[in-house]
Amino acid sequence: ASAPPPKGLTRPVKVCVRVRPVLEREVEHGTYHGCIAIAHERVYISTEDKPVLIGSKDDPLPEGIRAYPGFDGLLDQDASQEDVFQSAGREAVDGVLLGLNAAIMAYGQTSTGKTHTMVGDRTRPGLCLKAAGHLFSEAALCGSQIEVQASFLQLYLNHITDLLVADGHERSLKLREVVGEEATDTKVEGLSERLVQSMDDVAAVLEEGNRRRQQACTALNASSSRSHAVLILNVSLWTGTRSDEEGEAEATVAKLYLVDLAGSERVKDSAAAGDRFTEAVHINKSLFALQGVVAALADGKPHVPFRNDPLTQLLRPALGGNCCTTLVATVSPAQRHSRESEGTLNFASSCR
Ligand code: ADP
Ligand code: MG
Repeated sequence: ASAPPPKGLTRPVKVCVRVRPVLEREVEHGTYHGCIAIAHERVYISTEDKPVLIGSKDDPLPEGIRAYPGFDGLLDQDASQEDVFQSAGREAVDGVLLGLNAAIMAYGQTSTGKTHTMVGDRTRPGLCLKAAGHLFSEAALCGSQIEVQASFLQLYLNHITDLLVADGHERSLKLREVVGEEATDTKVEGLSERLVQSMDDVAAVLEEGNRRRQQACTALNASSSRSHAVLILNVSLWTGTRSDEEGEAEATVAKLYLVDLAGSERVKDSAAAGDRFTEAVHINKSLFALQGVVAALADGKPHVPFRNDPLTQLLRPALGGNCCTTLVATVSPAQRHSRESEGTLNFASSCR
């Protein structure tokens, strides 16, 4: 009997929701109400000024409470980084080991835990590090040789800049489509690559890139939460020696994109002028384009509008076709964020 097809072949995008814990400063602020709850395999959100109280599964929904069913993974405030990897990361990384391109993206309002989910910190490593660790350990288990080249870039307004070279933010890099027999690949011209051989190497790449991202943003008087950050791991796997021709021919290659998206919050027109307004327009456009692409894939539409934005063009190799793409929608449980949380849950639902 042949093996079942990897899940990436049957389901274009997997969508998980992560609710972060209440932060200490929110408790002190005194504005916290339990506005989101996970129960009965659903996310419940209160859209009015009252906490969510959930009865049994078949109770009618009280007024002012909405329920979102059908997500592939639900991670509540007690979920550990490892739980998040097992639920939202592992399948995509296993796909990469089979030669499928994959993307893992964090979507949500600023301060809801996107960077915590993707990057984390030393004691609580996030998906980027766990994914790399899994690649190395699985390759070792299978007795395969593995080579991982990392690139790290930022997409701000319409500019792609390299986070792994000094003064990278001064050069905007071009995207180029490479049309292949089976799929279209996207290359970023002149993007640097760094050989990474351990989780520590990946941590160093993230630290270096994030430091540059901060510096570049400070120089522009902008906030890093207004740009997309993308770590790309180019993975090659082979058995035997790579120098012999057979080994080269047999190599499995795939790309894993780990994406910390710009904050999805709506900027009120009245509050945003000049540069901030331009930023908001670009962010809305690229997140909207992402939604359009994912929704077209989910509906099996023949035309997928990849070219509407650099973000979707960049991620194209991991969206549609043979790939495993996962979106982690992050939300805050605070009542004062409930409108934005509802927006995030609507976005996440539309991606399934
Ligand atoms: P974002 O990148 O979406 O703006 P961050 O990842 O920076 O949000 O998170 C905002 C704050 O909340 C940070 O201080 C972070 O450490 C904390 N935080 C987010 N998610 C969690 C979590 N699941 N557990 C503990 N702390 C979290
Ligand atoms: Mg962040």
